[in-house]
Amino acid sequence: MTGKKNKYKEQLLRLADALVNNMMETPDEEILAEAAEEYGNPTKAADEVQEIIQRAFVAAGKERLRAANAKVRIRRAPDLGVLTFPVREKIAIVRKVITKAQKTGVCLTLAARKEEELAEENLNAKLEALVELGVVDDMGNLRQWHRGSIQSQVSDSDFPAEILLRELGVTEPEEIHRVEGIADYRGVTVHYRPLVGCEAHIVGFGDRAVAFINRTSSGPRQRFSLAHELGHWHFHRGQILTCETDGKLGTDDNDANAERSADTYAANLLMPRYLFLPRVHELGVTIETAEKLSNAFKTSITATLIRLVKIGPEPAMLVCHSRRGRKWYIRGPTVSNKWVPKNELHPRSRASKLFGKRKKNGRRRVRADMWLEHRDAASFEIYEQSRCVSNEVLTLLVFKPY
Ligand SMILES: [Zn+2]
Repeated sequence: MTGKKNKYKEQLLRLADALVNNMMETPDEEILAEAAEEYGNPTKAADEVQEIIQRAFVAAGKERLRAANAKVRIRRAPDLGVLTFPVREKIAIVRKVITKAQKTGVCLTLAARKEEELAEENLNAKLEALVELGVVDDMGNLRQWHRGSIQSQVSDSDFPAEILLRELGVTEPEEIHRVEGIADYRGVTVHYRPLVGCEAHIVGFGDRAVAFINRTSSGPRQRFSLAHELGHWHFHRGQILTCETDGKLGTDDNDANAERSADTYAANLLMPRYLFLPRVHELGVTIETAEKLSNAFKTSITATLIRLVKIGPEPAMLVCHSRRGRKWYIRGPTVSNKWVPKNELHPRSRASKLFGKRKKNGRRRVRADMWLEHRDAASFEIYEQSRCVSNEVLTLLVFKPY
């Protein structure tokens, strides 16, 4: 039966070769004339073929993602001798690994907090990764390394995360919910461990990596952290960098840039433009939209609002106030940097009454000088809408003609 099947397959392949050869030898005009005769319109025929290829591409991608998701297992920390060592010995092992990697040019990737600040939990996760990747044995002895040659993969595309999602046939937000499957497809195993002062880190060796995510963080935060580490894995392979939490940037300029590109990668991976924007166009730039999309994409309301402002179709700003005043703000790409939100909330603003309440205001038009420092601010109006998130008030300001 198998022999028959193979023979049939061989014949089919020969036939396909013959057909392709025949097509290559036929002049273009003749092919167009034949297509016109058969389908009435060659463009329509070409579109149909393209659609079939596209459908096959998406189906093949979905199969890749399904296979990657099926491989994902949540595993507990193994019992390793090295994890019982005193802290200074653990630090010495990690340092030895870094020094050897730098000397030999082996591709070691580390994105984590500075070693001096390492809590033992973080150190344990790092050692667990080094054992899993075969860099050291379970007693912390360095193994024989094969020379790695994998370099950082800065692709030509502006949106490598979105290209990855298309490669995996992702057409719905639900398909991105399990980031571990996507990580596995990129050669990254994910473990959830208690970390201290650190949301996540990644340890890579050659083209394989292990990412650790803080087990005690919220679901949306864990997903964002993992997507952020995948950003480092894409852009900073073979580098050792400091990864700060809570949106603070590293002190080193390079680290700050690395953090920004990893954050952008994460936003593109979790809320890709091609799925996010059509929904925003349908729903509008409002807090209700951010709430709906944060449910659909399983992202935090703050991350979703930032995305809405950064890539949404309307000029907008997002301002965060604590009771003590303005904490941070971001502008959409089309809003001039002349517009700066005031430090204090206006005493008459509805936003100031939201602190401590899990509520939001309805959207309304107000004079722009209620929110913005600018000499022209009194002469026009903007839309304001606020929502309380973890005892801070987030306000979405939209510059829009009536
Ligand atoms: Zn980072």
